[in-house]
Amino acid sequence: MRLIVPLLVAILLAACGGGQAAPTDTPSPTPSPTPTLSPSPSPAPTPSPSPTQAPTPAPTLEPTPPPSGPVIDLTGSHTEQGGFLAVRLRDAPAVVDPTVVLAGVTYTMLPAADVWYTYIGLPAWFAIGGYPMDVTAGGQVLVSGWLEVSGGGFAFESITLPPASSDLLTDTARIEEERQRVAGILAGFTPERYWSGAWITPAAGVVSDQFGTQRSINGGEYFAHTGLDIANAEGTPIYAAASGVVALSEELFLYGNAVILDHGAGVFSGYNHMTSLAVSAGSFVNQGDLIGHMGETGLVTGPHVHWEAIVHGVRVDPALWTQGGVEP
Ligand SMILES: [Zn+2]
Repeated sequence: MRLIVPLLVAILLAACGGGQAAPTDTPSPTPSPTPTLSPSPSPAPTPSPSPTQAPTPAPTLEPTPPPSGPVIDLTGSHTEQGGFLAVRLRDAPAVVDPTVVLAGVTYTMLPAADVWYTYIGLPAWFAIGGYPMDVTAGGQVLVSGWLEVSGGGFAFESITLPPASSDLLTDTARIEEERQRVAGILAGFTPERYWSGAWITPAAGVVSDQFGTQRSINGGEYFAHTGLDIANAEGTPIYAAASGVVALSEELFLYGNAVILDHGAGVFSGYNHMTSLAVSAGSFVNQGDLIGHMGETGLVTGPHVHWEAIVHGVRVDPALWTQGGVEP
């Protein structure tokens, strides 16, 4: 949370009302004094000339004008590698179909009561540094902000898989088939937001590997771990972390028996390596509903659930979604 306030200040400072594009080549992330919207009341105490004198009447000020122009609100965002942004456009009543542009990608915003919003995933490999972020509509920039992305602090580890498991990695045709199957599911977009509030952790157990860990399997190249692993006995129940529609429930190659939930607004979650599946594709599940049981199917070293959170196709740390709601 401590990142949010300075970020918001930076965003608000960079905001430009009136529909003109702010220069994005020389953004100024340096916090300057909070903009004052009305004459400063200057509350410095006036030395009382006499203790018996009646208090000086407060000077009459002009009514404080309300903030004008649209603003970007990132409350609840996680601005590190593997994090995600909850982006709302506020105070923009006449705007139609705004979009957010960040790092060359355009995100469609969705309407809610008095606000436009979207969620943006920051992949584990997202380069640390500053990025301009614009909200545009009708070909014009409404608001420009500046986003500082910090490091995820990911650990490195080497994993040794037994041949029965590592042999799976030699079947590149089936791996590619699975990649396309999953990518096709995650490319779906449901505008309706099915969940609210914080997510729950989907299974009891110990976290056996964090999201983002740079892992080398059997001495190979390092890749970021795309989910969070929770290990427990085979058969441990696995529950939906948040409400949504079952977008996939089937046996995959490396993921084993897998469920993918579509939570709407471009957000999905995935549950993998299960021994059995308890839901069918197309059905709706509420947060906490049973979706399957822990197992060791696919590419594994033991029974666990590999839990993923996916935002517009980008894997992010699922544990962040349990830290609080990110309502529009
Ligand atoms: Zn995993």
